[in-house]
Amino acid sequence: MLRILVVEDDDDIRAGLTRALTQQGVTVAAVARGGDALGRLGDFAPDAVILDLGLPDLDGADVLAMIRSLGDVPVLVATARDDEREIVRLLDAGADDYLIKPYSAAQVLARVRAVLRRGRTDAHEHVGTVDVAELSIDPQGREAHLAGTPLVLTRKEFDLLLYLVQRPGQVVSKRDLLADVWNLPWGGGDRTVDVHVSWLRRKLGESAAEPRFLHSVRGVGVKLVDPS
Ligand code: CA
Repeated sequence: MLRILVVEDDDDIRAGLTRALTQQGVTVAAVARGGDALGRLGDFAPDAVILDLGLPDLDGADVLAMIRSLGDVPVLVATARDDEREIVRLLDAGADDYLIKPYSAAQVLARVRAVLRRGRTDAHEHVGTVDVAELSIDPQGREAHLAGTPLVLTRKEFDLLLYLVQRPGQVVSKRDLLADVWNLPWGGGDRTVDVHVSWLRRKLGESAAEPRFLHSVRGVGVKLVDPS
């Protein structure tokens, strides 16, 4: 059964949507505050989140960033029509789709199903093993080997390595990495990318001073090259 987390502070909209979705056979958890949404992500484990952008306690973009830092659950942002610029910003920041108020439960369900279908297609796309010199990455099995030895990588380290390996020799900006690997907006002084690149370097047995695969390009970003 489909599980949807509704984050909406308007009591009438929240109750109405909960009732209508439940009638459609959806299991619904509904909260009024952004702070409560994060707690429910873990214990309710929704298939999708409907996130109202106008919440009393937290900015919608902040809630989205927090949800994204916790996982890949599809997020549909909901807003009033005059917030279209905000919608574009949130789609850039990792929202999967948007809903303009007033919306019907049928519309919500159609959008959620479309987003879930899209996600499945992405996941099932055939992507073969990628080799760069003695480095071998298997996107399907989420395994990486260096000269035949398995690399123990965190989820984000693997995602980062895969992203770079799929763009050999191409300088990738930190902004793009944050957007595409972390689903996070550019935060200026954000050290997330630098920190993960340095962890990845260590696991690849190299350093910034003596790079092999990972080369930083000052002021631009990072690229993965074939060292041989
Ligand atoms: Ca609201």
